[in-house]
Amino acid sequence: MHPYGLTPSQIEIQEGVRALCARFPDTYWRDLDRRRAYPDQFVRELTSAGYLGCLIPEEFGGAELGIREAAIVLEEVNRSGGNSAACHAQMYTMGTLLRHGSPEQKRRYLPGIASGELRLQAFGVTEPNAGSDTTRITTFAERRAEYYLVSGQKTFISRVQHSDLMVLLVRTTPFERVEKKTEGLTVLLVDLRTAGDRLRVRPVETMVNHETNELFFDGLEVPVENRIGEEGKGFGYILSGMNAERILIASESVGDGLFFVDRASRYACDRVVFGRPLGQNQGVQFPIAKAYIAVQAAAELRNKAAALYDAGEPCGSEANMAKYLTSEAAWEAGNAAMSTLGGYGMAVEYDVERKFREARLFLVAPVSNNLVLSFVGQHILGMPRSF
Ligand SMILES: Cc1cc2nc3c(=O)[nH]c(=O)nc-3n(C[C@H](O)[C@H](O)[C@H](O)COP(=O)(O)OP(=O)(O)OC[C@H]3O[C@@H](n4cnc5c(N)ncnc54)[C@H](O)[C@@H]3O)c2cc1C
Repeated sequence: MHPYGLTPSQIEIQEGVRALCARFPDTYWRDLDRRRAYPDQFVRELTSAGYLGCLIPEEFGGAELGIREAAIVLEEVNRSGGNSAACHAQMYTMGTLLRHGSPEQKRRYLPGIASGELRLQAFGVTEPNAGSDTTRITTFAERRAEYYLVSGQKTFISRVQHSDLMVLLVRTTPFERVEKKTEGLTVLLVDLRTAGDRLRVRPVETMVNHETNELFFDGLEVPVENRIGEEGKGFGYILSGMNAERILIASESVGDGLFFVDRASRYACDRVVFGRPLGQNQGVQFPIAKAYIAVQAAAELRNKAAALYDAGEPCGSEANMAKYLTSEAAWEAGNAAMSTLGGYGMAVEYDVERKFREARLFLVAPVSNNLVLSFVGQHILGMPRSF
């Protein structure tokens, strides 16, 4: 693909990540997938090359780049056949600390995150009885003198076993006692290294190699100094990171979509059936071409969202729509690739089935596409609220 629209320094980042990823070929990711193992070495190298800390300000040891550059990093990882989901959260959870943390918290944690000494990979929001209705969470932090006592349950909390720190959303005022449902929620920074048996972690097996867990809090003490921002204002802090999250996830989907198009078009040129390459049949060629067009169009919306974000302009609509379009485009591209490869699409050694499973996640997480549609329906088009 011609890197139209990228600046020379962005092209340098793209080529740098591409070169790094080339050292982690399909066999690396395939083996991890089989063992359900974490890409430790890959994450270490991505961090030490400075790519994972690219959004962290220079004063804390990061590269202080924009969301567009972060998007390039994650897109390239996924396009190469890798899976950024093993480490992407650090880019956007770090933003909660950066935007709303105290100067002391930033000094204490950000340099370690930038160098890779500390991992802030875990982000604890989802609960079994709340699901997409985040304000209905019930994990409760009760204030005692110098600490909070946290009790409750979370589910699908990823990378906890490969993280030192976790950004956790809790209630500090019960739902029934707040005037607005978004009030009374608080963000805590939990040090997982010292949590001990007050936090039980139970892995949830899923169809993808994504270390995700149920968490059971039973009176976990979290020092008050680990609260991010003000008590009761946590929902706003989490929301303020959502646009970055949407843009970054959209970029992983763009990478997935391009991976499928790359693999499908190459296979369609190489595989000869009925005496000609598969791709000579328009029935095979057109779905791949359509998928490519859809991924490119979706990527343009992602680019617009990233440009607005980096300019400090409102970008909620573009970020949400980009997340929707890119995940749908990647899924369609995945289907085109599966069809192109025929039976080999299902064969593990071709890597398309692995990426197909991974690409599916972004239709439901971190926000399901139905909720994006309702955001567009209500907030952009002014139709009645459905919930
Ligand atoms: C592999 C994996 C990793 C994850 N990692 C994390 C993580 O690190 N941290 C974290 O906090 N969470 C994480 N999640 C959770 C994820 O964000 C949620 O699964 C997602 O937000 C949807 O919530 P739910 O599964 O409870 O679905 P539900 O809210 O129960 O919804 C189920 C379905 O119904 C639809 N639906 C619900 N309400 C409506 C409505 N009003 N109108 C129309 N449709 C509706 C949804 O679109 C969805 O398709 C992860 C999930 C997975 C699968």
